[in-house]
Amino acid sequence: MPKDVEKSNKEIQIDPTCHECNSIHYCTVGNPNTQKQNCPMVVYPEIEEEVMNLYKMDEFLKKSTSIASIVEAQGYINWPRLKDTIEYAKGMGFKKLGLAFCVGLRKEAEKTAEILNKYGFEVCSVCCKTESIKKTDVEVPKEYTMVSKTGYLIGIMTCNPAAQALLLNKAKTDMNIIVGLCVGHDITFTHLSKAPVTTFIAKDRSNPHNPAAVLYTSYGDSYFAKDIKMMREEKK
Ligand code: SF4
Repeated sequence: MPKDVEKSNKEIQIDPTCHECNSIHYCTVGNPNTQKQNCPMVVYPEIEEEVMNLYKMDEFLKKSTSIASIVEAQGYINWPRLKDTIEYAKGMGFKKLGLAFCVGLRKEAEKTAEILNKYGFEVCSVCCKTESIKKTDVEVPKEYTMVSKTGYLIGIMTCNPAAQALLLNKAKTDMNIIVGLCVGHDITFTHLSKAPVTTFIAKDRSNPHNPAAVLYTSYGDSYFAKDIKMMREEKK
């Protein structure tokens, strides 16, 4: 076998694929899955030591991980995500929160800010259309502006996640919260935000901003049903 093919096969085997493991019987209860040749606990035992050092040495990591688990235990099943977010921010000692919101969710952003205010936080926010830059000025082809391919009005101004991040950086927020940014724009925002970022609302226009819904519809109804069926048949 040529060396490069051999190498790429090896890489495929050692990259973790935990989604193919019933982890509830393995790492969740303290055991690696030794029957799985690419279980990362078996392949990379040194990672455990590395992360333990990180949790010991990095104060933010230590605190954030611990507070998140405390919040989980306090409100498990009972608390909605926004309450988890509030309790996490309180536990971290954050005072000033930034909202990076989509223009389509401006009402949700307003309500979110109101609730956060009631819990004692100072809130600032930036709309995705801030700076009013045209899509064509940031290399979006004209045919993808104004009207979507599905026939909806989408306008000519670009979402501007870079400006949202820079403005919230200037405001020196302690934590930023994404309220419905587009896929990709959320990545740009997170990439440039100096404050840690969490998502409150993940945009999904087809599923009232509940992206996981696509996974819970009955098999025949699922948007991805055909793709999944085809992949499963190919695997047989
Ligand atoms: S770490 Fe190992 S045991 Fe845990 S889910 Fe991944 S493959 Fe399974």
